[in-house]
Parts: sequence; C-alpha cells; structure tokens
Amino acid sequence: MISKRGILIHPEEVGDYWAEILVESDLNLVAIHPKGGAAASDTLSDMLEFVKTDAFLSFAEKVRGKGIALEYEFHALSWLLDRNLYDTRKDWFRMNEEGERVNDYNMCPSNPDALEYIAERSALLAQKLPYNTDRYFFWVDDAKAFCHCSRCKGLTPSDQAMIIYNHILSGIKTVNKDATQSYLAYLDAIAPPVNVRPEEGIFLEYAPFLRDSSLPINDPNCKENQDQVRHIDGLIQVFGAKNSQVLEYWMDNSRFCGWKLPYKKLKLDEEVLRKDVQYYRTKGFESLTSFGCFLGEDYAREFGVPPVKRYSEILWTR
Ligand SMILES: [Zn+2]
Repeated sequence: MISKRGILIHPEEVGDYWAEILVESDLNLVAIHPKGGAAASDTLSDMLEFVKTDAFLSFAEKVRGKGIALEYEFHALSWLLDRNLYDTRKDWFRMNEEGERVNDYNMCPSNPDALEYIAERSALLAQKLPYNTDRYFFWVDDAKAFCHCSRCKGLTPSDQAMIIYNHILSGIKTVNKDATQSYLAYLDAIAPPVNVRPEEGIFLEYAPFLRDSSLPINDPNCKENQDQVRHIDGLIQVFGAKNSQVLEYWMDNSRFCGWKLPYKKLKLDEEVLRKDVQYYRTKGFESLTSFGCFLGEDYAREFGVPPVKRYSEILWTR
C-alpha cells in the first residue's frame, strides 16, 4: 500500500509558486534537495541558511497546513566530514586505488574516530532542519568513490555505505529517538550490502539513476533497466519493504536537461509512469517520489506550469 507520494525540489525554487502547485496537487510530501556533486557541502550550507528565512517558513506553513509533509534529501558526507580535516586527520579519509589517502569524496568507514565524528555532526545537522518528519536522508557523496585501505578492501561499496548510514542514524537518534535514516540504493551502492546489516531504523530508498527513462523500469528488453531492477528483491530481503521508498526521475527536468541550462520542456511520459507505478507497487514499495528539479518559476514563464497535478493523479491510480 502506497502511503507517501512526493516530489523533490531545489531550495532555490522554493516559494509561493511551488507552494501553490503542491497545494493544488494530491501529493502529500515535498522534500528539499540542494544540488549534489563536488559542491554539495556548499549547497547544503546555503540551504541551512535559507531555511531560516521568512520566505522558507512561509512556504513550510502553506504546505504543511494542507497536510503535505516536509523533508530534506541531500548528499551530506562532505558536510559531515569537513574536507579541511584532511590536514590533521588524513586517516579519516578514503584510500584511492593507488594507495593514497584523498579528501575528494566519502571517507574511510573502518576508522572508528571518523565514524564517531560524523555521528556527532549528523546530530547537529538534524537539528538544523525545521519541520522535518522523523525521516532523514543524509546521503553519502554523489560519486563512485569508496575506500580501498587494507581494512576496507573486503567491504563492498554497499557495505561501506551501510556502515556510514548506521552511524549517521545513531548520531541523529541522540537528538530524535524516533529518527529513521535512508539507505540510498544508487550507483555503486545499488546492490544490497552483504557483510554489514542495517540497524533498526534504516529504511530502503531505491534510486535507479542509470535507468533508461523512455522505457518501463521492468522492460525485459532494456538492459539498462534490467541492471537496475535486478537488485530490488535482494534489497527488500535485507531492508524489508516497511518504509521503503522509490526515488525516481519521472519529473526530473534537471536530468533531462543534462543538469545545465537552458531549460527544455519537460515531457512527462505517462505510459512509463503508469507501468512503473504498477511494478513498484507489486514489489511492496510504500512511498513513491521523484526529483522535480528545474521546474521553478522561471521554467514556468517559458513553458507553462509543469504537469505536477497529472503526475500526482497517476501516482494515485490503482
Ligand atoms: Zn578504509
């Protein structure tokens, strides 16, 4: 049974414009998503300032007043583990394949001090997100970069991500005992972890980034999509279906634009969306969400209001 239907939007697109679109749709969830990539720490810091402003608080009141839950989803690791700590804490950072400690992405998940540090930072970060539900989405870095040190080399990328997410959750729980944290099954970490178990309170978030969005996700003749869906049963076995969420790209105009301007007109593929929803439902996912970036007010001036209402209608059809 699907309980949550939502969309993720960039903080710089948040305002009355999106509040109205959301209120008129049947969606019951909106998540704020600062951009990932190499600048993720800066875009997150900017968002943490923005959520203190009247403009944001007014948006939050409008959507929450209509029963739409507010959450935040982002690549957090470069904020949780400041890259400048490299000068004094080199062994907290990942070892690359050439055997060198580097502070580009992620961390060494076999270092207990580094894990304790990111847990403390997670508690601090959780307190900076006004009106959030008990669900947290503090993701590892947006890169295929994990640790190759002697202690980590027996761990898969998914194992490494699992260790990190377990520690993030333990930190957040010190300030919110009801907290839950996502395991983002995505890119290198899309396979289920094999050597590390999720702690109580970790839930599955499945984001098939490498899919072909022009064909249904379970199209038997699409190799890209088969490569994404073949992990689902194993993921559900490890994490359970309870609180599981799909994070899709149906409404992600930033992806369709190649993450750069100029805007192109978003074409919602209703046929693919309908088939995908049916498939995810049979797999037991409880929440269906999609990125909805690059659909702000300046997009609407050029191309009209994006098809959010239609998107939400299809999410609700059985
Ligand atoms: Zn390591």
